Amino acid sequence: MSKYAESVLASVKAKNANEPEFIQAVDEVLTTLGPVLDANPQYEQNAILERMVEPERVIIFRVPWVDDKGIVRVNRGYRIQMNSAIGPYKGGLRFDPTVNLSVLKFLAFEQVFKNSLTTLPMGGGKGGSDFDPKNSPHTPGKRCSDAEVMRFCQSFMTELFRHIGADTDVPAGDMNVGGREIGYMFGQYKRLANEWTGVLTGKALPFGGSLIRPEATGYGDVYFAENMLAKRGETFEGKVCAISGSGNVASFAAEKLLQLGAKVITLSDRSGAIYVKDGITKELLAEVMNLKNVKRGELSELANEAAGIKFFPKVNSWQLADKIDAAFPCARQNELNGDDAKYLLSHGCKLVAEGANMPSTPDAIAQFVGAKIMYSPGKASNAGGVATSGLEMSQNSLRLSWSREEVDAKLKGIMKAIHDNAWEAAAKYGHEGNYVVGANIAGFTKVADAMVAQGVC
Ligand code: NDP
Repeated sequence: MSKYAESVLASVKAKNANEPEFIQAVDEVLTTLGPVLDANPQYEQNAILERMVEPERVIIFRVPWVDDKGIVRVNRGYRIQMNSAIGPYKGGLRFDPTVNLSVLKFLAFEQVFKNSLTTLPMGGGKGGSDFDPKNSPHTPGKRCSDAEVMRFCQSFMTELFRHIGADTDVPAGDMNVGGREIGYMFGQYKRLANEWTGVLTGKALPFGGSLIRPEATGYGDVYFAENMLAKRGETFEGKVCAISGSGNVASFAAEKLLQLGAKVITLSDRSGAIYVKDGITKELLAEVMNLKNVKRGELSELANEAAGIKFFPKVNSWQLADKIDAAFPCARQNELNGDDAKYLLSHGCKLVAEGANMPSTPDAIAQFVGAKIMYSPGKASNAGGVATSGLEMSQNSLRLSWSREEVDAKLKGIMKAIHDNAWEAAAKYGHEGNYVVGANIAGFTKVADAMVAQGVC
């Protein structure tokens, strides 16, 4: 690691000692930037790293709301406005009890590099709340009602609206924030700001949403992986794929893999994982989507030995099959550890394309990189979601809607550009085939150059 990066990392560790996820994300990036920092002394002279690890602004606020029993509840809301050098802050909102400053700062930091990689003019941000829509405060184990989710979203936006705007900060969805939540927050923003702008992305089609936005992160992950395979003259036809998660990213990654002729054998959620030796069918995937998005149930409900659907409680997707060609971690951070990586590598895995943010632990990443398999970090391979959010912003500004085919073609083109930029940056600095180094350097350089040009701010 360069001496400069080492000293900045030491200071990040000292200043943010209680933020392990943030330190992990910064460590992963800074350890790979040595070659570009050595070749460009202006970055150190302008304290670019010191500025990049410090959010431009952190907003923390109270979110009071009333549950269905009439009891007043209070959650904590956040927005991290990390870096606006190349465009308005852009990044999702996550509602989950695990949300805290460390998790959101890690996500916001990653977002800066990811957004830069998309080739679109978007800065980086992230936000959310420790609100748990899957656990009603008055009836633990039961989900919050739609009315409770609406009251929470309205209260959350009642504070957030003054900090965001179409040219300032444009939030989107993330874990537990989908079309329903975006709709409620958009409605409240519109009332408070008295304007109709594309201030949130991931909106439904009748009010400014983009076709392909729901599919974009999962599809984009697979498009990125297709580009990695193409470098070796391979395709997904017949490849055995393990996917974790069964939410937005996982389900559309599965859909695209099935369309490309791959065999998808696993999906997972908080209850455990399903394993289907002969491969999940289109019909079963439709059932999963209905279960998760409409009935809002658990994968355990799909267990059916007679139909070949095995369910394993409280495990993830990685150690269930005898042979796995490719793995797609699409659930959450640090969900694939060193043991999982060892298992995958010894059972034939040659490709890991992260759909989630930071799903592989540092130990797992070291093994993938050491084994020289095709491994892509989330900031590169899951950038399709935010890229299509960028396309949604463009359509809102132009007051028009592109067709499904147009958006899909643009998404494909963007994923290829991200792949090629990461590939070329890695090769330029002597790390051919290392997408971690390539993505970090390509994402960093654009933001760093913009910051140098804009002076000390
Ligand atoms: P969803 O909420 O739609 O799905 C998350 C999935 O992960 C669910 O299947 C959930 O299970 C599972 N999960 C969450 N926590 C745990 C846990 N502790 N143990 C086991 N399983 C768990 O979220 P998304 O699909 O939108 O996001 C998934 C990942 O992708 C996140 O890392 C997110 O930051 C990242 N991402 C998402 C983008 C998007 O456009 N949506 C864009 C880029 C990255 P259950 O259903 O039981 O809760």
